[in-house]
Amino acid sequence: MENVNKYYINGTWVDPVDARSFDVIDPSTEEVITQIPLGGQADTDAAVSAAKTAFATWRLSSKAERLDLLKSLADVYARRYDDMAGVISQEMGAPIDMSKAQQSATGSGHLKAFIRAFDGFEFEFPLREGAETTHIIREPIGVCALITPWNWPMNQIMLKVVPALATGCAMVLKPSEQSPLSGVLFSEIMHEAGVPAGVYNMVNGDGPGVGSQLSAHKDVDMVSFTGSTRAGRAITIAGAETVKRVSLELGGKGANIIFADADEKAVKRGALHCFNNTGQSCNAPTRMLVERSRYDQAVAEAKAAADATSVNSSSLEGRHIGPLVSEMQFNKVQDLIQRGIDEGARLVAGGVGRPEGLNRGFFTKPTVFADCNNQMDVMSQEIFGPVLSMMPFDSEEEAIAIANDTEYGLTNYVQTSDPERARRVARAVRSGMVDMNGTARAPGAPFGGMKQSGNGREGGPWGLEEFVEVRAIGGWPVEDSA
Ligand code: NAD
Repeated sequence: MENVNKYYINGTWVDPVDARSFDVIDPSTEEVITQIPLGGQADTDAAVSAAKTAFATWRLSSKAERLDLLKSLADVYARRYDDMAGVISQEMGAPIDMSKAQQSATGSGHLKAFIRAFDGFEFEFPLREGAETTHIIREPIGVCALITPWNWPMNQIMLKVVPALATGCAMVLKPSEQSPLSGVLFSEIMHEAGVPAGVYNMVNGDGPGVGSQLSAHKDVDMVSFTGSTRAGRAITIAGAETVKRVSLELGGKGANIIFADADEKAVKRGALHCFNNTGQSCNAPTRMLVERSRYDQAVAEAKAAADATSVNSSSLEGRHIGPLVSEMQFNKVQDLIQRGIDEGARLVAGGVGRPEGLNRGFFTKPTVFADCNNQMDVMSQEIFGPVLSMMPFDSEEEAIAIANDTEYGLTNYVQTSDPERARRVARAVRSGMVDMNGTARAPGAPFGGMKQSGNGREGGPWGLEEFVEVRAIGGWPVEDSA
């Protein structure tokens, strides 16, 4: 990849000023694919300065101009769609077919949904009928730092870059150092789509370097962050000095409440969802709570789903799951599986060690623990691997209490054929999102969490609102109707 050693600043590819070299590793082979430079303060400053200058003009651009840019981005992205799937597959280990069907697809899906939402988004309007002299203006917040993770790289980049562009902000993207190649390719796509110089900039770097520098930078008005709760906390503290807006999309530990009257595929569907992307999804349903009368059968079904889930290299076609992203993640997941065994959860599938026949690569066995309780680490910690923790419940109240007994609040799941109960439980669980009976939320619905899962909302009009300041002006001259 031509520009992998460079940063995209002020409309052109530039050499780093003060960088350290970092190995990008293919998690299926543990081989070094390439190296990227991790930037330093001078690189961060150059990108922020370019964004600050460009903001002065881009903030005044018309809605039509921005819409044209988004449409052009959609065209170029569609042309590079397969390249994007290939790069993501190699850098973070999503199997190639899954990368095409899901990883790359999230990018085009979000773009399309934002274009629709942007069409109906008003930047200026009267407060209400009868109060026309009070005028509301939604104004771009300014220079935005966009810091993204590696697990769904294009999903996160699109959810931030597109609304920032649409609302008239200028930005610096720092992709995850674990998945920098999709960030470089995305920047090439932005360039080809014709983004004006300085409006969009990209610097590669890590958390302690570019990430922290952006979060504390005096000329950055907002940080939009997706990643771990740990980093979200650090960014909030770093941004407090300059009173930045900090929008956070953090971790999760979703409960999947399965009532006895749920459809017959509910358990298998939940287990496969948990293992998808090798369990590396913030919204994965990792805690399966099952009504006692159906519990033993559910454990057997979850075991069968895990045993039937094959694991293999990301470069192979097929419906298997790939490796975990890195050695660090591999060790963390292995430790948590061992801890589950040590703390007395019943291991019914998978376990520690690599799957048979895979001696190299960060491959992990799809694992199911039964008979868990909420005091166990496998029930409370975000494992971020293909590990499902199950426990029985006796009543609706108990299921809700268990689901809510977590510091997270991103996504919960409900399976029941009783519509009254479905509505009741959806209202009672404390999470930004609830999916029921296998029906996912439509594109453009707000994505985000409660409690320590964060405070942001991405997608649709809510995703656009994140990037604007709302101003109120009294005494606005209104047209004389006479
Ligand atoms: P991470 O927090 O380690 O890294 C995410 C990004 O933040 C990377 O770009 C990293 O370089 C940067 N970073 C790390 N420390 C930083 C610091 N102190 N200051 C500034 N930047 C810093 O997370 P990860 O391991 O890349 O991603 C996995 C986490 O992301 C999981 O917890 C997952 O649940 C969460 N996630 C949440 C959502 C959501 O929308 N809620 C979506 C995807 C992933």
